[in-house]
Amino acid sequence: MDVSGELSFRDSVDLMFNRAVKLMDMSPGLEQKIRVCNSTYTVRFGVRLRGKIETFTGYRSVHSEHMEPVKGGIRYALSVNQNEVEALAALMTYKCALVETPFGGSKGGLCIDPRAWDEHELELITRRFAYELIKRDLIHPAQNVPAPDMGTGEREMAWIADQFARMNTTDINARACVTGKPPHAGGIQGRVEATGRGVQYALREFFRHKEDVARAGLSGGLDGKRIIVQGLGNVGYHAAKFLSEEDGCKVVAIIERDGALLDPAGLNVEDVRQWMNRHDGQMAGYPDAKHVADGKAVLEEACDILVPAALEGVINKGNAARINAPLIIEAANGPITFAADEILRQKGVVIIPDMYANAGGVTVSYFEWVKNLSHIRFGRMQRRAEEARSHLIVEELERLSADQGLGWQLSPDFKEKFLQGSDELALVRSGLDDTMRTAYQAMRKVWHERDDVDDLRVAAYIVSIGRVAQAYRSKGL
Ligand code: NAD
Repeated sequence: MDVSGELSFRDSVDLMFNRAVKLMDMSPGLEQKIRVCNSTYTVRFGVRLRGKIETFTGYRSVHSEHMEPVKGGIRYALSVNQNEVEALAALMTYKCALVETPFGGSKGGLCIDPRAWDEHELELITRRFAYELIKRDLIHPAQNVPAPDMGTGEREMAWIADQFARMNTTDINARACVTGKPPHAGGIQGRVEATGRGVQYALREFFRHKEDVARAGLSGGLDGKRIIVQGLGNVGYHAAKFLSEEDGCKVVAIIERDGALLDPAGLNVEDVRQWMNRHDGQMAGYPDAKHVADGKAVLEEACDILVPAALEGVINKGNAARINAPLIIEAANGPITFAADEILRQKGVVIIPDMYANAGGVTVSYFEWVKNLSHIRFGRMQRRAEEARSHLIVEELERLSADQGLGWQLSPDFKEKFLQGSDELALVRSGLDDTMRTAYQAMRKVWHERDDVDDLRVAAYIVSIGRVAQAYRSKGL
């Protein structure tokens, strides 16, 4: 428990698990097996930097090996600690089960402020950290496959992949040791945007169900909905950009480290991000919106959809009662503490839980891993065959129309779309959309059909714990 009386992230996740498992018919032994974190490896290593040796502490935690490889991001932040890494690894287990990616749960972290080091220094640190994990098979295409998380991205994943290849020169599947790589280094189209895209698809699916929208006290579709987003990093930026540019949502506030920007008419997300890129990650001084220094307070402003997309525990005992949004989608992992979850549910707020909401990243990581193992880009074999078949149909229709004197004209816009075969990006988006829809439907079925389940988080846990239990049972446990 911390000074504010709030439970640790790990305890919070465990309590959420307990709340759901209580409603399931499971032996206490299996329940305990699923709950516990299998192992956490702590490493301390030195790197010579700026003329002296700097020591860093890192973790790789494996929560559940009911399926292998295990999967989960690597986070770079000063706040990284064992408790946090274990909580995040547990969430990965449940997330993978919910969206049916065939992985166990894992997570890693390095205690570092990535902004304090230049690119070359970060490469040395990352390669050394990767070396320590690779030699213990804690990075391995068949056993443990990391991905990006807070503070890391494509660049770090490319260094890790290269480090693995250097240490495993004859492993033909070396590239599958990590996901989230840049496309030119074995990555997949659409991975960078995947988590934010998944948040968008999750909201689209939610708004397809009028009954669910009504439970949040809302009506209509996404168009015109007021959104507040916290964190304009990978997840928050893409989610806010797509929702505003493609679904007509109004991003009325963006909260970042240095305060918040507000505009009731809707902020231009791309413009704000470009401004931050040019100003060392700062929003202050952005000319087209009001800036307030107290970002946290803006979480309490009125909006239709609150999107916490930065870090855990931001909605807690201290502010939950004052949250003024009927719908919260947890784009970050663990942004709502157990105690806050209780308060919000009593207020009738609908929460789309993290293990579902931000599963777009691991879903597209799964596609990338499959691509690496199959050594071929998606769409390469079938794209032109698909186009040729569509051409045949169009030509035949036009011939019939001319023969019969019907005068049918296919519109150029329809023809262009219809004749286009699916490339890798189109296939990735289709797979992600399907995953987000299917997983939502599995959750909502439990939410609606069971009288003892009144929120989506418990429903999500019930679905995923059930699947993990099934996997353990088939292993004879
Ligand atoms: P990121 O580092 O790209 O972005 C985080 C953003 O939050 C940064 O812009 C940072 O400045 C901002 N931020 C940090 N502290 C803040 C604070 N106190 N108040 C407001 N803003 C703050 O990280 P990300 O990859 O976008 O991850 C964000 C969250 O999403 C994390 O919880 C992560 O675990 C989760 N997540 C990420 C992925 C992924 O694919 N990257 C996948 C699933 C879940």
